[in-house]
Amino acid sequence: MDIEISEVGLRDGLQNIDRIMPTTAKKAWIAAEAATGVPEIEVGSFVPAKLLPQLADTAELVAFAKTLPGLKVAVLVPNLRGAETAIGCGVDKMSIPFSVSETHSQANLNKTHPQMFEQIALIVEAVSEQRPAARPKFEVGLSTAFGCTLEGPIDEDLVVRTAERAIELGADEVGLSDTTGYGNPAQVRRLAKRIRAAVGEDRLTGIHLHNTRGQGLANVMAALEAGLTTIDSSLGGLGGCPFAPGASGNIVTEDLVFLLEAMGLHTGIDLERLLAVRAEVQAALPDETLYGFVADAGLPKGFAYARQGRG
Ligand code: ZN
Repeated sequence: MDIEISEVGLRDGLQNIDRIMPTTAKKAWIAAEAATGVPEIEVGSFVPAKLLPQLADTAELVAFAKTLPGLKVAVLVPNLRGAETAIGCGVDKMSIPFSVSETHSQANLNKTHPQMFEQIALIVEAVSEQRPAARPKFEVGLSTAFGCTLEGPIDEDLVVRTAERAIELGADEVGLSDTTGYGNPAQVRRLAKRIRAAVGEDRLTGIHLHNTRGQGLANVMAALEAGLTTIDSSLGGLGGCPFAPGASGNIVTEDLVFLLEAMGLHTGIDLERLLAVRAEVQAALPDETLYGFVADAGLPKGFAYARQGRG
């Protein structure tokens, strides 16, 4: 596989819609999408159920997803307590969102930066106490890295320093996250290169992009140029953007697969089957708008997938 796609619709997409998707429908989505070849799915978040009732079934979804052969099961964790639950459930990967905008961090997670670093250190300790085979990969997601709805522009030096500190504390990786859809390709390329130079290329491999201002796939191109190999996306861009009607939320998985495969980058994903899964998810969420161009236009005549092992 040249590029690994991580499906985040079940977490980032669903947390932005009001109607609660039944657990059985979520399981059907996970199984169907895993069967298309999607290698990693973020199935939920271990936040208190009263804060996000939509994601209250995360433990059950992890247990289900773990039965699917070859699938990497990821979750979001807001703090040590969430991480302990995630470890207990046997997740393969967990990410803690660290808002580089401290104002956003306090508003969203009720934590200052020093308090966040403290949580990271405690989580690293909790992971290290597990036997090696039971240790999930622990990533610190640098959210609001490209700009913040509260603070505006974010100092790039601060993003780099935050990445360095997270790795010093023992996180396996950092991830770049354009939470607000403020990022542009020049910024993505520059920041990804700076962080990789600071912490090592193997410590920043993934990026999380939103398409709020239509820059999503352009930002993917910049991320690829900077050497990143894992990209988050959401089936149908589910969840939209509450501040920008008509804009998808996360970048659209179907369009991302098309972009990569058409350019000769192997994803391991069967796009026709993925479009069928999209139709199933739409049927389960009839009131939600799904986004994306490939689903509307169809695959071009003679479309060929990238060859495996092209390198
Ligand atoms: Zn997001």
